[in-house]
Amino acid sequence: MDRSESETPVTLERITRVVKHYWGFESLRPLQEEAIRAGINQNDSVVVLPTGGGKSLCYQVPPIIAERTDIVVSPLISLMKDQVDGLQACGYPAAAIHGGMDPGARREVEGGIARGQYRLVFVAPERLVSPPFMDTLAQADIRAFAIDEAHCISHWGHDFRPEYRQLALLKERFPQASVHAYTATATQRVRDDIALQLQLTDPTVLVGRFDRANLVYRVVPAVKVKAQILEVVRRHRGEAVIVYCISRKDTERIALWLQDNGVPAEAYHAGLDSEQRHRTQDAFAQERLDVVVATVAFGMGIDRSNVRCVVHAAMPKSVEHYQQETGRAGRDGLEAECVLFYSAAGALKWESLIRRSSMEAKEPQECLEAALELLKHMRDYCSSLRCRHALLSEYFGQPYDGETCQACDVCLDEIEGLSDATVTAQKILSGVARVRERYGVGYVVDVLLGTNPELVRQRGHDKLSTHGILDDMPRGAVTSMLYQLIDLGLLVRTAGDRPVVMLNEASWEVMRGERPVRLRQPPSKPVTKSKADRVSWEGVDRGMFEHLRSVRRKLAAKRGVPPYIIFGDVTLREMAASNPTSLDDLRGIRGVGERKLADFGKAFLKAIAAYRAEEGESAAPGHF
Ligand code: ADP
Repeated sequence: MDRSESETPVTLERITRVVKHYWGFESLRPLQEEAIRAGINQNDSVVVLPTGGGKSLCYQVPPIIAERTDIVVSPLISLMKDQVDGLQACGYPAAAIHGGMDPGARREVEGGIARGQYRLVFVAPERLVSPPFMDTLAQADIRAFAIDEAHCISHWGHDFRPEYRQLALLKERFPQASVHAYTATATQRVRDDIALQLQLTDPTVLVGRFDRANLVYRVVPAVKVKAQILEVVRRHRGEAVIVYCISRKDTERIALWLQDNGVPAEAYHAGLDSEQRHRTQDAFAQERLDVVVATVAFGMGIDRSNVRCVVHAAMPKSVEHYQQETGRAGRDGLEAECVLFYSAAGALKWESLIRRSSMEAKEPQECLEAALELLKHMRDYCSSLRCRHALLSEYFGQPYDGETCQACDVCLDEIEGLSDATVTAQKILSGVARVRERYGVGYVVDVLLGTNPELVRQRGHDKLSTHGILDDMPRGAVTSMLYQLIDLGLLVRTAGDRPVVMLNEASWEVMRGERPVRLRQPPSKPVTKSKADRVSWEGVDRGMFEHLRSVRRKLAAKRGVPPYIIFGDVTLREMAASNPTSLDDLRGIRGVGERKLADFGKAFLKAIAAYRAEEGESAAPGHF
């Protein structure tokens, strides 16, 4: 008989009670109940939830209810440490074993496992499969394993780690134990591979919704990228922002530009020495630094849940990368913004990079084609004018049911210059025709603007009717429109080292007036915050929120943990909206579990009262 049928089913109320007690959450998120039940009943499972979807809770709750010790496999020491700190702050018995520990500390945890002292123990995959550790686990009668970031086991994922492959041993060595895989990577192929590699038996497969409703997506034509980034970062003053760049050099250039403009920002990339990387990562986690300008190297280890904005200085090379990187925004469920500065020039740069590295690595043709296909999807996303939430959901195989998301530049009606741009397009295309389709983008733009007089005169192009025909427009706007024409297939740019722009059949249709053209212009007015933003700040006293943030920072520094371990922003905003005056009031706030209430409740009540008193004093006399 199925093990689950032989036991009294656990009620939802029981699960919710545990969640409220430790984490202070009132309810479960989608699929958490199903995933938790699979854990309790020891049915193998593959759980796919987007970043921020709440995967951790799914493996944290079962061992509490089943009163057992479960093992979590996690790829990075920094991730393990964060999780253990977070759990301990909730009064949850957890520990980690990793290479960074001294032997004494490791023996202590191993002793703790033997005594059944923990509910969760985090380990790296290579340690888990070491024979002595396997023996320790066998003696401790371990009955369930959770594999975090399980896509690392698959070649088809974007982050393959060979050491994950050894996890196949688990089912051989512990046939009675269940194995539960967790990932945010969506494709069917990776999912199937995970189940196969881990040798799961008839697993419960749970796939969540990929849409991140709390994120506002914007794709903005790149004109003056540095200035555009500065504007976005300033919109998020005092909040965490990650700016992703393609090259290391760009991260340094942009970080410097932000610093020069009074924004404390640091660059982060794999070329920096590890000490400096740690310093930046720690400062960011501990909220001493808000803006990091990084390559993709700034990734998995970031657990700061209140990142309010992710900027892409240029397009990433796949929608998967985009989803992963933007996924770092708004993990606390509060609104966050994702701005991508797009120019087809970036896409073309990727294309030549991909071709070159594929040639150098002597990859088979189908790998190159697959990479170019991924790139094309990303480019289509950028140049499309459909709802971005719908596009992303559909890319991951899920229809989007919302009519209008009210959380992307398209649905918020922010796209400017979409009106008829046929005449401008005709001018640009005739500009290409007049220079006989022999020059690159930069030179064509020179002629249209009437700039670079020396070279243009030498070639006699100052005599053309198209010379200076767009001299009333800024250079960035003309370049952006020219690239948009390439994106729309109305103009061609050749490949190779010295690409030139050429016309095709569609170009002539436009020039003959047979085909209307709609082009975007860079937004002329600054973006205002979205509806989602206004809602989640409703009733929140911002002054008090900032005050509570500073209290949180101090408490965190004293404990040597990052601030979000103390309380997340959701909790602080609720405090600053509901003005609690007693421990009982605090207990009703999301994110306040019993241990945190005991540890930090009084400190926060005191801070709230002090802030109120000060506010009262500064109010006009006779106000009360
Ligand atoms: P993932 O690992 O899927 O990216 P996490 O497990 O880190 O996501 O959870 C993301 C955030 O959501 C965390 O701040 C977590 O505390 C919070 N969270 C998880 N489950 C719930 C819930 N049921 N109610 C409220 N907040 C939750």
